[in-house]
Amino acid sequence: MNGLSEVNIGEFKKQFTGEVIVPEDANYDEVRQIWNAMIDRKPALIVRCTTPEDIIQAIEFGRTQNLLISIRGGGHNIAGNAVCDDGLMIDLSLMKGVEVDPTTRRANVEPGCTLGDFDAAAQAWGLATPLGINSTTGVAGLTLGGGFGWLSRKYGMTIDNLLSVEIITANGRQLHASEAENADLFWGVRGGGGNFGVITRFEFQLHPVGPNVLSGLIVFPFEQAKSVISQFARFTETMPEALNVWMVTRKAPPLPFLPEAVHGKEMVALALCYADDPEEGEKLIAPLRGFGTVLGEHIGVQPYTAWQQAFDPLLTKGARNYWKSHNFSQISEGVIDTIIEYAARLPSPHCEIFIGTIGGKTTSVAPEAMAYSSRDARYVMNVHGRWETAAEDERCITWAREFFAKSQPFASGGAYINFLTHDETDRIVFAYGTTWKRLVELKNKYDPMNLFRMNQNIKPA
Ligand SMILES: Cc1cc2nc3c(=O)[nH]c(=O)nc-3n(C[C@H](O)[C@H](O)[C@H](O)COP(=O)(O)OP(=O)(O)OC[C@H]3O[C@@H](n4cnc5c(N)ncnc54)[C@H](O)[C@@H]3O)c2cc1C
Repeated sequence: MNGLSEVNIGEFKKQFTGEVIVPEDANYDEVRQIWNAMIDRKPALIVRCTTPEDIIQAIEFGRTQNLLISIRGGGHNIAGNAVCDDGLMIDLSLMKGVEVDPTTRRANVEPGCTLGDFDAAAQAWGLATPLGINSTTGVAGLTLGGGFGWLSRKYGMTIDNLLSVEIITANGRQLHASEAENADLFWGVRGGGGNFGVITRFEFQLHPVGPNVLSGLIVFPFEQAKSVISQFARFTETMPEALNVWMVTRKAPPLPFLPEAVHGKEMVALALCYADDPEEGEKLIAPLRGFGTVLGEHIGVQPYTAWQQAFDPLLTKGARNYWKSHNFSQISEGVIDTIIEYAARLPSPHCEIFIGTIGGKTTSVAPEAMAYSSRDARYVMNVHGRWETAAEDERCITWAREFFAKSQPFASGGAYINFLTHDETDRIVFAYGTTWKRLVELKNKYDPMNLFRMNQNIKPA
C-alpha cells in the first residue's frame, strides 16, 4: 500500500499544471486503460503532464512519496508497463506537439504523440521517418525500444534517425543527449527503453517520402501457404531497400476486395510498400502476383499517411492480446512448416502470425553502436494472439506459447524488447545480448535506485 494522503496530493497539485486523477474521479477508469485489455492495473494516482516542468514535479513527487512510477506514452506496450498497481502513473499522452523544420528536415516531437500525429505533421512537408505500422502506437515507446516499419529498409530503425533527446533523469535533472553531449545516455536511450529517464522531447531526422506511395495487400489461399511463404522468403532477400513486403497469415477479415466465400477462412497475405517512384514499384512488385492464385488484391498509389493507418481497424484498443516474437536472419523451411501448422489452428479469428521484414539499412549499423543490438535480424516474427473474452485466455495463450517454442530452433537470437510480454522478463538479457553489460553500467550511473523499473527492466548491479 502507498502512504498517499489528500494532504500531500493537495500540496502536489499546487505546483502541477496538468490534470491529477484519483480513483474516485469519473474519468479514472478511462485514463488508466491501455491498449491491451489483459492489463487491468489500478494506480493510486494518475498525473497527466502538459509541460516538462510537470514531469519533473511528478518524478520528484513519486520519489519522495516512495511510489512505484509508470510512464505512459501511447499506452500500446503489450507488457502493460505504462500502468502500475497502487503507484503513480505519469501520463504524457496530452503532450502532443510536433515541430517540423522542412529546411533542415528535422522534427521535434513531444512524448505523447502517436505515430499518426507525427506522420501527419511531417507529411504536410512530404517528409517522414521510419515508424511502425499502426498509427495509434506511441512515438515514445516505439522509439525507445528501436522502432521499425515500412521505411526501415530504406532509412533504418527509428533510433537510427534519432538525433537527440531531452531527458529527465531519476535525480530530476533535465539533460540534452546526442552523439555530442551526454553520448553515453544517448547510446542507452536508443533501444534501452525507459530505463534511464523520461524523455520530454525527441529530435528526428526526416526524409522525403511520398506523399503518395505504392502500397497494399495481395491475398492468396492458405492451401498455397508453403509455396507463397517460400517465395516471399527468397524475394525479400534480394529486393531493393525502398521496397518492403511483410507476410501475414490469419483468417480473412471481411475486406471488400475479397470474395465473400473467403471471409473468415485462413489465408496468406503479402502487405507491401514502395517508398520511391510508384511506376518503378509496379514493375518490382509484379512477380509477387505469381506466387500463387490471387484471391484478391488492393494495391494502388495512396497517401503514405493512409497506408500508415491501413491496419488500424484490425488493431483497435480493448481486445485481449498476448504476443510472442522471434528474430530471424532468414526464413527457413522449418519455420515455414511450423507457421503453417499453427496458422491452421488459430484459436480465435483475431489471432495472426506475421513476419515483418527489416534488413537493408537496419543491418548497416554496428551491433554495439546503440543499446539495440539485433542488427543481424532481417525479419521479426510476431505471434499475435488476440481475442475478446477472458474465457479464451488459456486456449489462446497456450497456442502462442507452443508455436513460439516450436519455432525457436529456427530463430537467429536476440529479441525485440517492444514485443515482449509481461511474463518474459527472463528474455530481457537475451534480447540485448552484447550490449547488456554496458546497459547495466549506465543504469548504475543514471538510475542506481531503479526508480524507473516499470519497463523491460535493466536492474542496476
Ligand atoms: C498494434 C501494435 C502495433 C505495433 N506495431 C509496431 C511496429 O510496426 N513497429 C514497432 O517497432 N513496434 C510496433 N509495436 C510495438 C510498440 O513499439 C511498443 O508497444 C511500444 O512500446 C509502444 O509505445 P507506446 O508509447 O505506445 O507505449 P507505452 O505503453 O505508453 O510505453 C511503453 C513503455 O515505454 C516507456 N516510455 C514511454 N514513454 C516514455 C518517455 N517519454 N520516457 C521514458 N520512457 C517512456 C515506458 O517504460 C513505458 O512502459 C506495435 C504495438 C502495437 C500494440
